[in-house]
This record gives sequence, C-alpha cells and structure tokens, in this order.
Amino acid sequence: MTTHTTRMLIIGSGPAGLSAAIYAARAGMEPIVVQGLQPGGQLTITTDVENYPGFADVIQGPWLMEQMQKQAEHVGTRMIWDTITDVDIAGGSPFRATGDSGDAYVGDVLVISTGAQAKWLGVPGEQELGGKGVSACATCDGFFYRGKKVVVIGGGNTAVEEALYLTNHSDDVTLIHRRDELRSEKILQDRLFASEKITPVWNKVVERFVAGEDGKLDHLELVDTQTQEKSTIRADGAFVAIGHAPATELFRGKLPMDDGGYLLVEPGTPKTSVPGVFACGDVMDHTYRQAVTAAGTGCMAALDAERFLATLEFAEREARTAEAAE
Ligand SMILES: Cc1cc2nc3c(=O)[nH]c(=O)nc-3n(C[C@H](O)[C@H](O)[C@H](O)COP(=O)(O)OP(=O)(O)OC[C@H]3O[C@@H](n4cnc5c(N)ncnc54)[C@H](O)[C@@H]3O)c2cc1C
Repeated sequence: MTTHTTRMLIIGSGPAGLSAAIYAARAGMEPIVVQGLQPGGQLTITTDVENYPGFADVIQGPWLMEQMQKQAEHVGTRMIWDTITDVDIAGGSPFRATGDSGDAYVGDVLVISTGAQAKWLGVPGEQELGGKGVSACATCDGFFYRGKKVVVIGGGNTAVEEALYLTNHSDDVTLIHRRDELRSEKILQDRLFASEKITPVWNKVVERFVAGEDGKLDHLELVDTQTQEKSTIRADGAFVAIGHAPATELFRGKLPMDDGGYLLVEPGTPKTSVPGVFACGDVMDHTYRQAVTAAGTGCMAALDAERFLATLEFAEREARTAEAAE
C-alpha cells in the first residue's frame, strides 16, 4: 500500500477535474488526479463535439480529453489510475481517501469532480446506436438533427426542456411518455403544449431502437402501457431524457446534497459546506451539464482552493509564531 500526499487531491478526470488540475499545477500545487473507471469522463463516450470553444472544425470527444490530460500532465499533474472507495472529510484538512487499489491519498484540499451519468432505458439498440441517432443530451447533439424528425423519451423537467430545446432545430419533435400526464413543472408543460412543433405520445414505452441499412437510427419500437399494443415511430434522432445520476454515493452523509444526489455548494462558487472541500462540474450542476461549464467550475475550484490554502498556511504560520513567543 502506498500513501500519496498532495496539496490538492482531485477525484475525477473529466473536463472539471482536469481543468482544476491545470490551474492547480500551474500554481505549483502539484495536484494528483485520481481518474476513476472512466478516465477522461463522459466525453470519451461521444464522437463529434462542436461546441467546445477554440476549434473551428468538429473535434472528437476522446481526442479533446486526451489533449486536456496531456496539458494537465505537461504542467505538473500526477494522474493515477484508481477509483476512490472511501473518503474521510469530517476531520477537516488534510483530507484522506482510500482507493480501490488499497492505496491511501492525503490532500490538503479536496476537489470533487466525479460527474454524473445519464440514465438510460437499458433496451436493445440503445447503446449500439449511441452517437448514431441515440443521445442523452439535446444541447450537445440537437444541432446534428437540423430539419430532421426527433423524439424525446421521458416526462419530467429534463424531457420537456429537451423537447423545447429541440424545436430550435426541428419542426417535428415527438415526446414519448409512459404515462398520460407529465411530471414536469406546470410552466414547462404550458410551453410544451403551446408549441406546434411538439407532439406528445402518451402511454408508450420504448422496447427497442432499430437501425436502418446505413447503421444509423431508423425507428423505435413502442409498446402501449395500457393495451400492450405494439407500434413503431420513425426518427432520425432519439433523446433519452429520464434524468441523470450524479456519482455521489461516496459522499452520502458526509456532504450536503439535494434530493437528486447533486452536491450542494455555496451559490456561485464551488465551495461545499466543509472548508477545503470543493465540488465542480456535473456533480454539482444539474442545470447546464456541459464540458465548458464543467471546465469553468473546475477552474473556479482550483482558484478557490489556492486561496483556502494560502489562508490555512497563514493561520498555521501565525500559530507557530505565537507558540514560539510563549
Ligand atoms: C454522449 C454524451 C455526449 C456529450 N456531448 C457533449 C458535447 O458535445 N458538448 C458538451 O459540452 N458536453 C457534452 N456532454 C456533456 C459533458 O460530457 C459533461 O458535461 C462533462 O463531461 C462533465 O464533466 P465532469 O468533469 O463534471 O464529469 P465527467 O465527464 O462525468 O467525469 C467524471 C469523472 O469522475 C470519475 N469518477 C467518478 N467516480 C469516481 C471515483 N469514485 N473515484 C475516482 N474517479 C471517479 C470518472 O472516472 C470520470 O473521470 C456529453 C455527454 C454525453 C454523455
């Protein structure tokens, strides 16, 4: 068993964690990033990325994350392939964590950037057609379906917001819901029902996503929840919008989180309720959930962490001076 000690321990290697690492490393904090089971985060499972600033051409998600990691390492970050299985936050700084490997991690500050995973339906064709018509992010992929027929699956706020967003690109949006009424807020429902571009389809669940001859999504097979009758609906794009699951089990009972499991931070900052523990990226953001916003809050976490450490070091120096004077 090895103990890795650092001034900044970062859990998670998506855009949030790597951006925090780049800033921290450049400030001489020699951060450690524990990568987790998905090194590079969610963007490594997508293809085209067209909305990350700085690239005139379409870039690939895995390539972007490879570049971010190289940049973080280049400026002095240590990347460790391990998954954190336990954290000790209650004792305050320094914070301790244990990895699946058995290694221990000690950080003067802790940056949590463990992200959130989209929830999927788990039906045939869904994973196979990911990036080929099936998506879980209209903001990310809606643009690719300009003028095409799209469906959204779900009935909560996310689904209604995704359907409304897609009307920017398509005049033919179908919302498929397994019940006969929506769970979303009334104001969103009003907007949805007022839109001539959105057709709701009630009491239907998706049984299968089916590809056409070109290997891309062609149609969905549906089953009526009341009559068990089967039907199909043609679609160029299908957006699964049944919510996200933030990776926060590790912090349950240790840090405040909302009903959805997202870590709570001081509004407008990445500060959790524990001084020295910061949360950034999708793990604390159920609204925007974009690579660029994750990177932005990662930067904020590193800058705030640096200030926290400076204050801590000043207080320690003062205490030592006072002790020496006694
Ligand atoms: C299919 C798809 C396409 C997308 N397309 C776009 C797009 O085009 N543009 C865009 O801006 N956004 C896009 N997004 C959204 C974007 O990927 C996320 O908003 C962004 O990745 C969030 O970054 P993050 O760093 O907060 O978390 P994530 O990217 O989710 O990274 C989380 C990290 O935490 C690690 N981790 C989790 N638990 C542990 C643990 N216990 N120990 C150690 N590590 C742990 C994981 O291994 C991972 O490295 C897309 C998302 C998906 C799923």
